[in-house]
Amino acid sequence: MEGCGARYSGYWSILVTLVDYFPAFLDLRGRSCLLIGAREIALRKARLLLAAGAQLTVVAPQASAEIEDLATRGALRYLARKFRPSDVTGQWLVICATDVVSVQRDAAQAAGQAGVFCNLVDDADHSSYITPAIVDRGPVVVAVSSGGAAPVLARQIRAQIESLLPATVAQLASLAREWRDRVHARVGDLLRRRYFWESVFEGRVARQIHRGAIGAAHETMQDMLDDESSAPRRRGEAWLAGAGPGDPELLTLKALQAMQAADVIVHDRLVPEQVLSLARRDARQISVGKTPGCRKNRQEDINALLVDLVASGKRVCRLKGGDPFIFGRGGEEAAALEAAGLPYQVIPGITAAAGCAAYAGIPLTHRDLAQSVVLLTAHGKDSVDRLDWPSLARDRQTLAVYMAVRRFPELMNKLIEHGRPADTPIAIIEQGTTPNQRVIRGNLGQLTLLAEAYHVEAPAMLIIGAVANFGEILTTLPSAMAGGHAAAVNSAIQQIANNQ
Ligand code: SAH
Repeated sequence: MEGCGARYSGYWSILVTLVDYFPAFLDLRGRSCLLIGAREIALRKARLLLAAGAQLTVVAPQASAEIEDLATRGALRYLARKFRPSDVTGQWLVICATDVVSVQRDAAQAAGQAGVFCNLVDDADHSSYITPAIVDRGPVVVAVSSGGAAPVLARQIRAQIESLLPATVAQLASLAREWRDRVHARVGDLLRRRYFWESVFEGRVARQIHRGAIGAAHETMQDMLDDESSAPRRRGEAWLAGAGPGDPELLTLKALQAMQAADVIVHDRLVPEQVLSLARRDARQISVGKTPGCRKNRQEDINALLVDLVASGKRVCRLKGGDPFIFGRGGEEAAALEAAGLPYQVIPGITAAAGCAAYAGIPLTHRDLAQSVVLLTAHGKDSVDRLDWPSLARDRQTLAVYMAVRRFPELMNKLIEHGRPADTPIAIIEQGTTPNQRVIRGNLGQLTLLAEAYHVEAPAMLIIGAVANFGEILTTLPSAMAGGHAAAVNSAIQQIANNQ
């Protein structure tokens, strides 16, 4: 990862390793299961199996007092002897919770031959299934697995989820269970039923449960169900949401919620795959990326698409790079929805200037160096001509320039022409906040040569002003030198020195 520092956790790879195993929840009620071992770890497993309603047999020469107690009370059958391969016959599931290696080996082999799933505690390699770390908000259970690669990490993730999920989730799920059949009978249509439950879990009922007003929540359920048959068809809505500059962890919670609630995600080219993978699995994804100079996906077509989708009752998340209202044409999409009388909400995002500057260690304002920051775009000849150059050339302000790569020569010349010194520090941040981030530093007079020498490509953010010197020097100078660009860089620097 060039010039970015260690800013990425292993979290993307967890999403990938999860699929090494087929996730499932087993119905063990009344089914025979075998537990080998009867000490502390085995006891934990016994409790889980009994809670799931399994008919449990425990085999081990010695048992803890608790296991013996459970056996005396008839909760399980305890065989006080060594494991025999024939013990696996007729079982649905085997857990081997002993550290005697020969027993582990025999159990895995016998279970394999009998076609019974067998888990060896802490030995994923020889197990035919592994058990996840769980968050229990019965009847809601969240299972976390790292595919056997890092059980401790899975347990840490479990702890994080545990702190996120309020204990009242359990009550909410119990209420849903109580009403399930009645809702099913009243709301026949699958999609409508999903919308009904979404409004239960996001709306008044959930709020009542969270503050402990269980009786009121049941009354609200009844009211909602009474209204359901007379209610008009659900109206669509749109969220114009910012996805941030690239790092998925810079997504706001609100944008994530919109992505998970939406039936359709309409996204730009700048929104990375890792962000899109956080959308609801069955949501339709439509890419409307505009390629510079190409007439495909014109803005009017995107506006019309949004209006059509929302008018047909869809919940649409219009996901844009950075912030939707900063060089994102979100204003035009909002106006189109407004004109069609359709509901929408705007969810702000971290704009590229803020994200890139932060990840490059550059403060956009600084008490001693810059009292203001100007966000501007140099996209297209027209916008370059319309810029107020005398004002932009003034000192003690930071310029953050979007969509500038093709306009570097004009930018450099006009600013210098209008009095901004050629030695004003600059930073070019390419693919900021992503694992491919590059930060190239220099001064204004070197801008075009640096961009050429380093083959700068969009998306890139140009920061001009004294603050651009800040932070670690993350340039990729050594690799540019190695790539044979040293001569260009040196001659550029020489040229500037001669001009001064
Ligand atoms: N709405 C977006 C801007 C869209 S315009 C926002 O608020 O950030 C697209 C321009 O944004 C690009 O040409 C580039 O100048 C800048 N940009 C977006 N993502 C970037 C990134 N990860 N790194 C550098 N520049 C980026």
